Amino acid sequence: MKVVRAKDELCSALEPLHGSRIGLVPTMGAFHDGHLALLRAARKECDTVVCSLFINPTQFGQSEDLERYPRNEARDLELARAEGVDFLFAPSPEEIYPPGFETRVEPERLALELEGVIRPTHFRGVATICLKLFNIVRPNVAYFGAKDAQQLAVIERLVLDLDLELEIRPVETVRDDDGLALSSRNVHLSPAERKVALALPRALELGAEAERDGGDPVVTARAALSEEPGLKTQYVAVADYAGPRLLAAVQVGKTRLIDNVTLEGTKR
Ligand code: AMP
Repeated sequence: MKVVRAKDELCSALEPLHGSRIGLVPTMGAFHDGHLALLRAARKECDTVVCSLFINPTQFGQSEDLERYPRNEARDLELARAEGVDFLFAPSPEEIYPPGFETRVEPERLALELEGVIRPTHFRGVATICLKLFNIVRPNVAYFGAKDAQQLAVIERLVLDLDLELEIRPVETVRDDDGLALSSRNVHLSPAERKVALALPRALELGAEAERDGGDPVVTARAALSEEPGLKTQYVAVADYAGPRLLAAVQVGKTRLIDNVTLEGTKR
């Protein structure tokens, strides 16, 4: 595995490989099994696997957790190497946003709901970094987790709207044995907060179950979350992001968690 810091160096290294299948897995590091599932999917389907590791400052709001975002590059490099990644692209913020940078991608409707209400500039940052990575790597396929379903929908829209020539491959959410969706931010949860956080996947499952039985998934999930006094519910909603999903965001102490499940019921 080659670790590359400069975009020119990555472009040159990839130049002779463009006839073959190149897969890109964009990440912000602090790897867990969710990231590894994306890397494995890419390794299975592609000749060359590029993983980017970049904590993108422009997708964090002013009052968000950029400073406390978990970082462990040495460990990430070892894990990526073990998954057979060919190129790990780990640029500095200045490499990606040099002085004078001023052009951004502005996703609209999809970026204004749910996460977009709470994080108004988030998807602009996500869409801009993803377009830059797509242009630098020119992958045939890029892999994204369904855990961030709205992000996945924004990226699928970006590819359609800007006529990008790549496929977006969704990878199902990887969960811990207790049901909690893996997230780099889970390391911030105390043992007590982790117990509280389990109410999130439980509520979503109850919502999905209610939907299968002809009930209202949002009402059911919201009611289940309201029984857990240790968390604050930010939203519970149904949206069509690569199929119908029940999505929720909660705050547990200082940690914000999002999750979603697919809906299969007949009520829609
Ligand atoms: P992040 O490093 O958190 O920006 O995530 C990088 C990629 O991994 C994104 O496409 C996420 O949706 C995906 N991802 C994060 N957590 C999980 C998970 N538990 N299961 C599957 N994919 C995930």
